[in-house]
Amino acid sequence: MNTSKDTLQRFLFENISIRGELTQLHKSWQAVTENHHYPPVVRDVLAQMLVAGVLLAATLKFKGRIILQIQGKGALPLVVAECTSEEAIRGLAHYSDDIKADSLKNLVGDGQLAITLETENKTERYQSIVELVGETVADAIEHYLETSEQLSTRLWLTANAKTAAGLLIQKLPQESVDEESLHQVQADEDGWNRVEQLSATISDDELLGLDVYEVIHRLYHEEDVRLFESEPVFFRCTCSKDRVANMLRGLGQSEVDAIIDSEKLISIHCEFCNHQYDFDAVDAKLLFTNSLLTGNSPTQH
Ligand SMILES: [Zn+2]
Repeated sequence: MNTSKDTLQRFLFENISIRGELTQLHKSWQAVTENHHYPPVVRDVLAQMLVAGVLLAATLKFKGRIILQIQGKGALPLVVAECTSEEAIRGLAHYSDDIKADSLKNLVGDGQLAITLETENKTERYQSIVELVGETVADAIEHYLETSEQLSTRLWLTANAKTAAGLLIQKLPQESVDEESLHQVQADEDGWNRVEQLSATISDDELLGLDVYEVIHRLYHEEDVRLFESEPVFFRCTCSKDRVANMLRGLGQSEVDAIIDSEKLISIHCEFCNHQYDFDAVDAKLLFTNSLLTGNSPTQH
């Protein structure tokens, strides 16, 4: 039975240069959509982006995060999915009210896929942007990895209101393949085709309903698979009163005073977690008089 844990399971095919990952998100996925009322078509794309984010974040070699973003001019102009190296996720989508089910390319409309890698302190940032290609999120990301990273990868992504799940298989980069002999590479080609065909037999219901060990057994019981320790995935928003205060300081005192004069209150709403940060006239004054005082404000995580 499904134990309903939010988990990332990495695995490796012994003797074939292929790695795999499987993730299932329950509570963390429900937290992303809580209070958002996304239509099913929007919800599905956001879920698939988040699942892909978790699968790709597992390969981060530094403390930081990966940000997947699709943007365009269609009924779904923006989807953002973030996952940290600790597997903390958050995400959001913008959509028009008359949105109807369609291919990803048509929903986003003349769009792009941007993938950003960022270290925790934001000192290093690497962004790659490609044209949005394909009918699904999996198509778009496979295309990105093939063209930008020269990594042969297959993804199966699926979701419903309660669970989002995905499977990834990827050829290991050549430099990480043991330099044993040339016929090892030959065996890899057969191995890739076989593992790809086995993986493609997974159904959405199985990905969502079986637990990760059952999925791996169901697909690869005739292969020699090494499982790594599974890792928990969770929802966490990085917004805080301090960050909002810094953003307001960036606007400048005259701008902030002008808003207080006309609105009496500055309300900043975090689209990721729906938290609202209110600054009244006193708070606004403190922003520019003593930064140590605002530094003592309780932070929201
Ligand atoms: Zn937030």
